Amino acid sequence: MHGRPFIDGLSAWGEPTQLRGPGVLSDPLLNKGTAFTTQERDALGLRGLLPPRVFTLEEQVQRSLTAVRSKQDVIEKYIYLTSLQNRNEVLFYRLVIDHIEELVPIIYTPTVGEACLHYGSIYRRPRGLFISLNERGRIAEILRLWPHGGVRLIVVTDGERILGLGDLGALGMGIPVGKLSLYTACAGVHPYYTLPITLDVGTDNALLQTGPAYIGIRERRLRGAAYDDFIAEFVSGVKSVFPKALLQWEDFGNTNAFRLLRNYRHRLPSFNDDIQGTAAVALAGVIGALRLTGSTLARQRLLFLGAGEAGTGIADLYVAAARAEGLGEAEARRHCWFVDSKGLVVQGRGEPLAEHKLPYAHEHPFIESLAEAVKVLKPTALIGVSGMPATFTREIVAAMAALNERPIIFALSNPTSKAECTADQAYSWSGGRAIFASGSPFPPVEFEGRRFLPGQGNNIYIFPGVGLGVLVSEAREITEQMFLAAANTLAGLVQPEDLAVGRVYPPLSNIREVSLRIAAAVAAAAHDAGLAARARPPNLVEDIRGRMFEPVYREYA
Ligand code: NAD
Repeated sequence: MHGRPFIDGLSAWGEPTQLRGPGVLSDPLLNKGTAFTTQERDALGLRGLLPPRVFTLEEQVQRSLTAVRSKQDVIEKYIYLTSLQNRNEVLFYRLVIDHIEELVPIIYTPTVGEACLHYGSIYRRPRGLFISLNERGRIAEILRLWPHGGVRLIVVTDGERILGLGDLGALGMGIPVGKLSLYTACAGVHPYYTLPITLDVGTDNALLQTGPAYIGIRERRLRGAAYDDFIAEFVSGVKSVFPKALLQWEDFGNTNAFRLLRNYRHRLPSFNDDIQGTAAVALAGVIGALRLTGSTLARQRLLFLGAGEAGTGIADLYVAAARAEGLGEAEARRHCWFVDSKGLVVQGRGEPLAEHKLPYAHEHPFIESLAEAVKVLKPTALIGVSGMPATFTREIVAAMAALNERPIIFALSNPTSKAECTADQAYSWSGGRAIFASGSPFPPVEFEGRRFLPGQGNNIYIFPGVGLGVLVSEAREITEQMFLAAANTLAGLVQPEDLAVGRVYPPLSNIREVSLRIAAAVAAAAHDAGLAARARPPNLVEDIRGRMFEPVYREYA
């Protein structure tokens, strides 16, 4: 396998293997399957254990692609790809990278959501660590059981808010596994360094608790101080066993997500993709849209539908970006308005507001509906992060189009069935003037002789590059400036031909180059802030490019 290790001197995966015979075939980082040459088969004791014909990697990729395509059901495709990953990682990643637009929707959203729902019955063999309440007091010991030393990248979930599907408990493991696959496919993080973890703290999903195929512990979710103690033990275990690891919080419920991020973001390199990754990808979309309108961030007024992790995360990053354009913080916050399930978020609305909403609870008369809020507040951008479909109605989109020459309308809720409006609706109800992006992909739209290619504000554009940049610079903290750098870099990579068809993101086929550029911007931010433990290389882009994992077979003999 190519790609220099992140830490100079650590090359466990690059050393000659001591394994022989079946042991080689059952290690997915070593196994080449039918691609072992005759000499390698002799040297590694594989004669007779493999069919005689030797295939090239390209031939194996073609065979696997035919196999995936022959399966009608997306879950069958997911199972096929997962077992390929568990058998031969080079082949798996070669296949995914070469067919990224076709296969990402299977290894990650939207298929991964369905895969999580069935994780109990499709579970074949373990991948990653399950750390449950039964392991309290011994978490560091469990982490030490992981066979690869020097883990650098952990994605952890407690399964409480899996995509838009809610509390799936231990079934949520599909998410850290999928996210880490994307780190490797999209940013070249070597799989040796990655570790998916599910913290099984119980589930409040009664259907799961009693279901025969449920793989987690059958208890109600741990809450309060006992939950915080469990997380504290986990984080201190990570710090002692894998002191250089980046910890990504993934799909935690919003009653815990903001607090965990606040508590740990300065104690180890750590971020929450649902809050910060979403923020950067959405902000990049807005910056991309401004390249079409010729306006500035400081002149925008954003109205959000939904005031959870995604919405307030986007607003916080907008505030940081607008401050960089010269707005004061309080003024920048007044450019962001929220409608949640109870109406416009304003001071004195009646019930106590969750802490993350407070900075955006402005002094203003209460407004009950989104349609009315659009009329009164006159936003330039409407951003849907509510999980509520069909909430951007014809009336609302038309009102946005009456207020703005090019209204920004982002329907970010996933999956497609939850989007606040469809691409078709946004274009047709605005007379073809909307600048539209969505969380899930929409097909191209023809409107009055024009063809639009709606952009997908997928976090995949941001988190792999951010993670890679943190790993290569060995940043000890992940800052807002790094996410801002990622958003600006992403927006800068949108080409005039993308904008011409209404797409405010680059095509996914460029993802490895996008991730590389973001990684370089993030590493530069780490060096500039004095947070990097590694010395700054003379050419960041080329240094990082040389460290990216390329799935090609190494030679054993
Ligand atoms: P969350 O549970 O933290 O927040 C949801 C918010 O929506 C809450 O404030 C809730 O009050 C509000 N809400 C619920 N019903 C509403 C209604 N009828 N009207 C107005 N507001 C309502 O969830 P989240 O993490 O913020 O995610 C929200 C949505 O954003 C999800 O659908 C998710 O798929 C999507 N999302 C998209 C991306 C992306 O496109 N890159 C990234 C993250 C999240």
